[in-house]
Amino acid sequence: MLTAPQFSPAGLVAVRTRIADAARRAGRDPAVVRLVGVSKQQPAERVRAAYEAGLTEFGENYVQEAMPKIAALRELGIDWHFIGHLQANKTREVATRFAWVHSVDRLRIAARLNEQRPHRAAPLQVLIEVRLDAATGKGGVEPEAVAELAAAIAQMPRLRLRGLMCIPEPSADADSQRLPYRRLRALLEELNRGGCALDTLSMGMSDDFEAAIAEGATIVRVGTAIFGART
Ligand SMILES: *Cc1c(COP(=O)(O)O)cnc(C)c1O
Repeated sequence: MLTAPQFSPAGLVAVRTRIADAARRAGRDPAVVRLVGVSKQQPAERVRAAYEAGLTEFGENYVQEAMPKIAALRELGIDWHFIGHLQANKTREVATRFAWVHSVDRLRIAARLNEQRPHRAAPLQVLIEVRLDAATGKGGVEPEAVAELAAAIAQMPRLRLRGLMCIPEPSADADSQRLPYRRLRALLEELNRGGCALDTLSMGMSDDFEAAIAEGATIVRVGTAIFGART
């Protein structure tokens, strides 16, 4: 039988140390940077082990992969974050089982999530995914269209708009890594000057979360550096 390698807390400890160091270097309180462990392709038992090592929030990209994991770990009370591209025919599962969605990029998806969020649950915490680089990815709204989408989501009672998310083109150079994150922060500040009250920037992954923290990330989404390479 094939078994997944056991979870080793060393990666998690190292990531937490790097987060705290990056925050201090930026003159920020390390406690305001939340770590979401990206558990895509990780079996439920490895997520459980990471939870037992102190990680309480996890991010998943695919609804079909996430649902059995969420069911298997239900008693832990994990806050699940949906971070992948969301299709309209999958919004009900996300509205029902997740606490956060990082990847809202169109009105139709927001409207469905608002309609489908159960009334016994707290409002769904929502981020708008912004496409900063026209060349990257399949998701994300253009920066020029963010304000209009934000205004519409603000009217939806079962959603709570918290901020912005982006997935920039990878870059190995620390200075270039910071540029898109600086733009995302500027966009959030602009929305707040226009009357929004947004407090969340979801930006930074294993290879660049320090650059994102230097630019104000409040959530980093880290998979590989915690769990090892995905197969
Ligand atoms: C996979 C993924 C991550 C984590 O990537 P790592 O490089 O493994 O840390 C973060 N955010 C999103 C949206 C992802 O799809």
